[in-house]
Amino acid sequence: MNRIAGKGVNMETKEGRKVVTIPDLITVRQLAELLGVSPIEVIKELIADGIMANINQTIDYDTAAVVASDMGFEPREEAPPPLPEVEAPPAPLTEVPLREIYAQEAPEDLEPRPPVVTVMGHVDHGKTTLLDAIRETNVVASEVGGITQHIGAYQAEKKGRKITFIDTPGHEAFTAMRARGAQVTDIAVLVVAADDGVMPQTKEAIDHARAARVPMIVALNKIDKKDADQERVKRQLAEVGLTVEEHGGEVICVPVSAKEKEGLDALLEMILLVADLSELRANPHRPAMGTAIEGKLDRSRGPMATVLVQNGSLKVADNLVVGSIYGRVRAMFDYQGKPVKKATPSTPVAILGLSDVPRAGDTFEVMPHEKRAKTLAQERAEREAAGERRLPRLSLDEIYDQMQAGKVKELLVILKGDVQGSLEPVRNSLERLGDENLRVRIIHEGTGNITESDVNLAIASEAIIIGFNVQAEPTARSMAEMEGVEIRQYEVIYKLIEDVDKALQGLLEPVYEDVVLGQAEVRAVFHISRRGKVAGVYVEEGEIRRNAQAKVIRDGEVLYDGQIASLKRFTEDVKEVAAGFECGIGLDGFEDFEEGDIIEAYKKERVG
Ligand code: GDP
Repeated sequence: MNRIAGKGVNMETKEGRKVVTIPDLITVRQLAELLGVSPIEVIKELIADGIMANINQTIDYDTAAVVASDMGFEPREEAPPPLPEVEAPPAPLTEVPLREIYAQEAPEDLEPRPPVVTVMGHVDHGKTTLLDAIRETNVVASEVGGITQHIGAYQAEKKGRKITFIDTPGHEAFTAMRARGAQVTDIAVLVVAADDGVMPQTKEAIDHARAARVPMIVALNKIDKKDADQERVKRQLAEVGLTVEEHGGEVICVPVSAKEKEGLDALLEMILLVADLSELRANPHRPAMGTAIEGKLDRSRGPMATVLVQNGSLKVADNLVVGSIYGRVRAMFDYQGKPVKKATPSTPVAILGLSDVPRAGDTFEVMPHEKRAKTLAQERAEREAAGERRLPRLSLDEIYDQMQAGKVKELLVILKGDVQGSLEPVRNSLERLGDENLRVRIIHEGTGNITESDVNLAIASEAIIIGFNVQAEPTARSMAEMEGVEIRQYEVIYKLIEDVDKALQGLLEPVYEDVVLGQAEVRAVFHISRRGKVAGVYVEEGEIRRNAQAKVIRDGEVLYDGQIASLKRFTEDVKEVAAGFECGIGLDGFEDFEEGDIIEAYKKERVG
């Protein structure tokens, strides 16, 4: 393309592309001037990239560079102003609980923010239909859209006020995010079908919301159905500890029909009422922090994430770190796909410009410099790779020590049993244990196998899981192992109660079992100066490991039981030697080897 050089063009590349130096932020008009093209052409290019911008809109370097490059220029970034001297970087805010962050803000900086709502309840009770119905009736239509897909959250409007709805219903997603350290929901709407009543997942949802200390509003759905029985459901709710206002309790219950779009206004009003009681506030006048609620790889745009701003305001061109990912906000879209430059607290926005796709529940924070965002992200990735857990978990063995240290006053338990009938005696006995210093509190109980949702709840609440005559699902077990959540399984009530009782009194001894790793036969005995005698052996079975324990067995009798002190192949120290190889073994405090002795390597494994 042959163009008249604009004022930013100062040299050419070998291929004849004109080099243009573009600053960090630039308006569409300025970019057009730099390139020496008409602003309309720039706007057209932006539209082709999915960005709706007017002539005075500011775009960041990354966006401008794409436009310039598409128009045949060679973009270069103008050297940023020198970084101010920074002392030790401040501790990342995302590692501090949100409640404390709000509390640290100066009261005059705080402004009301919309409530963030998650819809929960039993399957088929109408969660999705309700979310759709609210979106259809209470979202103000917008004309321009830069992206068309749903972004995982939306905002409804009622009486000129906004309410943010998380678009993934269910307590599983809610608790999975909490397990990652995120706290996004202010109010839970519990959907209960009036024709079906309180079901197992209704109870589960109630426990999960309670464990998170999130206020609940009941949406009594499907009131249009012939067999709807509102009174019956209210009674059932009272039985599980949710007494509605009409029955003298404090829980707000709104009859609705998601299908007929009835009662939705009342529901939204009640959400605003509960929000007012909670005095939801945040400081919009500072760099943003919040949580990623969805992430995906867009084929043409690259990593795309929906983030919920929880404090501060997020702006285009902000550098941020999300979990162990960093990036710079290249473009930002609201829930209607409209490009926006700024997102205030409780606003969900889809952002482009991250280096990778974050996970739901990863918290994000804006950093003053890209470099700091990058290093923090790298540090976190390394910590994750090293298998470091985010929260120290509690096990039954440790409960007494933790109590002594004044760290816990309650042992939180998730109890799963085979049938309802067996849960009750277990619960009653457990709740009688302990004293005023340390008690058992059952945060969730239910029938059926131990699931991932149970493990997430345990992570989020620092609870242990006790299974009575049930199995842990394989995915739940591997997740528990990875996250260090303790699952204890019992088949006899008295053993279960005895163990927990002992744990509360600090009497529980962990049970270990020997697991044989391998066997070797002594073929020769060597004397090594300074070291003493070592056995030259042939490994017959399994493997011998340097850090294992070992027994020396002669004629069926165990002569020694201790620790391997050295393991060598020829003169090299090695970590392990497999069957079929020879090696030298030195033992800690034993030298009287004889040819024909068996050395058995084993490790101790916790079984209880
Ligand atoms: P979810 O599993 O809780 O998300 O439930 P859905 O929203 O998928 O709804 C399950 C079924 O109940 C669907 O067939 C809906 O059409 C139906 N449904 C949802 N709300 C209502 C309602 O208010 N009245 C009636 N009659 N049916 C409803």
